[in-house]
Amino acid sequence: MEVVMQTIYPTSLTPNQYAEQEYHKQVKAPINCPNCQRAHTLGALAYYERYITTATVLVLLIWVRRFLCRHCRISVSCLPEFAQPYRPVNTPTVEEGFNGQVTAQVARRSELIGCYWDRFETHLPLLLREVGNAFGPLPLQPTAKDFWHQLIEACGDLGSATRQLIDQFHTCLFGTYRCHQRRQPLQAA
Ligand SMILES: [Zn+2]
Repeated sequence: MEVVMQTIYPTSLTPNQYAEQEYHKQVKAPINCPNCQRAHTLGALAYYERYITTATVLVLLIWVRRFLCRHCRISVSCLPEFAQPYRPVNTPTVEEGFNGQVTAQVARRSELIGCYWDRFETHLPLLLREVGNAFGPLPLQPTAKDFWHQLIEACGDLGSATRQLIDQFHTCLFGTYRCHQRRQPLQAA
Protein backbone atom coordinates (compact mmCIF):
# COMPACT_ATOMS: atom_id res chain seq x y z
CA MET A 1 0.00 0.00 0.00
CA GLU A 2 1.28 3.41 -0.89
CA VAL A 3 1.55 5.95 1.90
CA VAL A 4 1.57 9.61 0.88
CA MET A 5 2.61 12.53 2.98
CA GLN A 6 1.67 16.01 1.81
CA THR A 7 3.76 19.15 2.18
CA ILE A 8 3.26 22.71 0.96
CA TYR A 9 5.83 23.86 -1.59
CA PRO A 10 6.68 27.57 -1.22
CA THR A 11 6.04 29.52 -4.42
CA SER A 12 4.73 32.95 -5.30
CA LEU A 13 3.41 31.74 -8.67
CA THR A 14 -0.29 31.87 -9.48
CA PRO A 15 -2.01 28.68 -10.64
CA ASN A 16 -1.88 29.93 -14.25
CA GLN A 17 1.84 30.77 -14.08
CA TYR A 18 2.57 27.40 -12.49
CA ALA A 19 0.75 25.60 -15.30
CA GLU A 20 2.14 27.78 -18.13
CA GLN A 21 5.73 27.40 -16.93
CA GLU A 22 5.24 23.67 -16.33
CA TYR A 23 6.66 24.48 -12.95
CA HIS A 24 5.85 21.02 -11.56
CA LYS A 25 8.93 19.84 -13.48
CA GLN A 26 11.12 22.32 -11.58
CA VAL A 27 9.89 21.55 -8.10
CA LYS A 28 12.86 20.44 -6.02
CA ALA A 29 12.74 17.75 -3.40
CA PRO A 30 12.65 19.01 0.18
CA ILE A 31 16.10 18.53 1.76
CA ASN A 32 14.67 16.58 4.67
CA CYS A 33 12.00 13.92 4.38
CA PRO A 34 8.92 15.29 6.23
CA ASN A 35 8.29 11.82 7.61
CA CYS A 36 11.62 10.40 8.83
CA GLN A 37 13.49 13.76 8.77
CA ARG A 38 16.55 12.24 7.08
CA ALA A 39 18.41 14.51 4.67
CA HIS A 40 18.85 13.87 0.94
CA THR A 41 16.72 10.74 0.83
CA LEU A 42 13.99 11.96 -1.53
CA GLY A 43 14.11 10.76 -5.13
CA ALA A 44 11.83 11.73 -8.02
CA LEU A 45 8.69 9.65 -8.24
CA ALA A 46 5.93 11.02 -10.45
CA TYR A 47 3.09 13.51 -10.54
CA TYR A 48 -0.55 13.49 -9.70
CA GLU A 49 -3.20 15.83 -10.96
CA ARG A 50 -5.65 18.00 -9.14
CA TYR A 51 -7.96 20.93 -9.76
CA ILE A 52 -7.48 24.52 -8.69
CA THR A 53 -9.56 27.65 -9.30
CA THR A 54 -7.99 30.54 -11.24
CA ALA A 55 -8.62 34.26 -11.73
CA THR A 56 -11.13 33.44 -14.47
CA VAL A 57 -14.17 31.20 -14.41
CA LEU A 58 -11.95 28.34 -15.43
CA VAL A 59 -10.86 25.58 -13.14
CA LEU A 60 -7.36 24.45 -13.95
CA LEU A 61 -5.85 21.00 -13.87
CA ILE A 62 -2.33 21.11 -12.42
CA TRP A 63 0.34 18.51 -11.84
CA VAL A 64 1.71 18.06 -8.34
CA ARG A 65 5.26 16.76 -7.88
CA ARG A 66 5.87 13.66 -5.82
CA PHE A 67 9.02 12.19 -4.38
CA LEU A 68 9.83 8.87 -2.74
CA CYS A 69 11.93 8.60 0.41
CA ARG A 70 14.62 5.98 0.03
CA HIS A 71 14.79 5.53 3.78
CA CYS A 72 11.19 5.33 5.01
CA ARG A 73 9.60 4.52 1.60
CA ILE A 74 6.92 7.17 2.00
CA SER A 75 5.74 9.26 -0.96
CA VAL A 76 5.91 13.00 -0.46
CA SER A 77 3.64 15.27 -2.49
CA CYS A 78 4.60 18.93 -2.88
CA LEU A 79 1.39 20.91 -3.11
CA PRO A 80 2.14 24.43 -4.43
CA GLU A 81 1.46 27.17 -1.89
CA PHE A 82 -1.52 28.55 -3.83
CA ALA A 83 -3.43 25.31 -3.18
CA GLN A 84 -5.18 24.11 -0.02
CA PRO A 85 -5.29 20.43 0.94
CA TYR A 86 -8.40 18.81 -0.58
CA ARG A 87 -9.97 22.17 -1.49
CA PRO A 88 -10.19 23.45 -5.08
CA VAL A 89 -10.47 27.20 -4.33
CA ASN A 90 -7.01 28.75 -4.53
CA THR A 91 -5.38 29.93 -1.30
CA PRO A 92 -5.31 33.72 -1.94
CA THR A 93 -9.04 33.63 -2.78
CA VAL A 94 -9.84 31.69 0.40
CA GLU A 95 -7.84 34.28 2.34
CA GLU A 96 -9.68 37.20 0.75
CA GLY A 97 -13.00 35.54 1.44
CA PHE A 98 -12.13 34.83 5.08
CA ASN A 99 -11.01 38.46 5.43
CA GLY A 100 -14.45 39.58 4.25
CA GLN A 101 -13.17 41.05 0.99
CA VAL A 102 -15.53 40.68 -1.95
CA THR A 103 -13.28 40.36 -4.99
CA ALA A 104 -14.46 38.93 -8.31
CA GLN A 105 -12.87 35.59 -7.46
CA VAL A 106 -14.47 35.52 -4.01
CA ALA A 107 -17.88 36.37 -5.45
CA ARG A 108 -17.54 33.53 -7.95
CA ARG A 109 -16.68 30.98 -5.24
CA SER A 110 -18.64 32.42 -2.32
CA GLU A 111 -20.65 29.28 -1.68
CA LEU A 112 -17.56 27.06 -1.41
CA ILE A 113 -15.72 29.63 0.69
CA GLY A 114 -18.72 29.69 3.05
CA CYS A 115 -18.45 25.91 3.38
CA TYR A 116 -14.72 26.23 4.05
CA TRP A 117 -15.40 28.71 6.88
CA ASP A 118 -17.92 26.28 8.40
CA ARG A 119 -15.35 23.50 8.25
CA PHE A 120 -12.77 25.79 9.86
CA GLU A 121 -15.19 26.66 12.70
CA THR A 122 -15.96 22.97 13.22
CA HIS A 123 -12.27 22.05 13.29
CA LEU A 124 -11.32 24.99 15.54
CA PRO A 125 -11.45 23.26 18.96
CA LEU A 126 -9.18 20.47 17.75
CA LEU A 127 -6.96 22.90 15.89
CA LEU A 128 -6.51 25.04 18.99
CA ARG A 129 -5.63 21.97 21.01
CA GLU A 130 -2.82 21.26 18.54
CA VAL A 131 -1.38 24.75 18.17
CA GLY A 132 -2.06 26.26 21.61
CA ASN A 133 -0.56 29.73 21.83
CA ALA A 134 2.03 29.09 19.10
CA PHE A 135 0.75 32.03 17.06
CA GLY A 136 0.28 34.35 20.05
CA PRO A 137 -1.80 34.43 23.22
CA LEU A 138 -5.49 33.75 22.62
CA PRO A 139 -8.56 34.93 24.53
CA LEU A 140 -10.18 32.40 26.86
CA GLN A 141 -12.76 31.23 24.34
CA PRO A 142 -11.41 32.27 20.97
CA THR A 143 -13.78 32.44 18.03
CA ALA A 144 -12.83 31.36 14.52
CA LYS A 145 -12.48 35.04 13.68
CA ASP A 146 -10.11 35.65 16.61
CA PHE A 147 -7.87 32.78 15.60
CA TRP A 148 -8.01 33.60 11.89
CA HIS A 149 -6.77 37.16 12.41
CA GLN A 150 -4.06 36.03 14.77
CA LEU A 151 -2.86 33.32 12.41
CA ILE A 152 -2.64 35.66 9.41
CA GLU A 153 -0.92 38.36 11.46
CA ALA A 154 1.67 35.86 12.73
CA CYS A 155 2.30 34.11 9.41
CA GLY A 156 1.76 36.87 6.85
CA ASP A 157 -0.62 35.02 4.59
CA LEU A 158 -2.67 31.85 4.37
CA GLY A 159 -0.12 30.05 2.18
CA SER A 160 2.60 30.44 4.75
CA ALA A 161 0.17 29.71 7.59
CA THR A 162 -0.90 26.45 5.94
CA ARG A 163 2.74 25.44 5.47
CA GLN A 164 3.45 26.03 9.16
CA LEU A 165 0.30 24.25 10.32
CA ILE A 166 1.15 21.19 8.25
CA ASP A 167 4.90 21.06 8.91
CA GLN A 168 4.82 21.86 12.62
CA PHE A 169 1.39 20.74 13.81
CA HIS A 170 0.34 18.14 11.21
CA THR A 171 -3.02 19.77 10.68
CA CYS A 172 -4.57 22.53 8.56
CA LEU A 173 -7.52 24.91 8.80
CA PHE A 174 -10.11 22.41 7.69
CA GLY A 175 -9.22 19.18 9.42
CA THR A 176 -6.50 16.86 10.57
CA TYR A 177 -5.73 14.45 7.76
CA ARG A 178 -3.78 11.24 7.55
CA CYS A 179 -1.53 12.64 4.83
CA HIS A 180 -0.10 15.18 7.29
CA GLN A 181 0.81 12.64 10.00
CA ARG A 182 4.16 10.95 10.41
CA ARG A 183 4.24 7.15 10.01
CA GLN A 184 6.51 4.37 11.00
CA PRO A 185 9.00 3.44 8.31
CA LEU A 186 7.36 0.97 5.93
CA GLN A 187 10.52 -1.05 5.68
CA ALA A 188 14.12 -0.71 6.75
CA ALA A 189 16.36 0.81 4.10
ZN1 LIG B 1 11.66 9.42 4.92
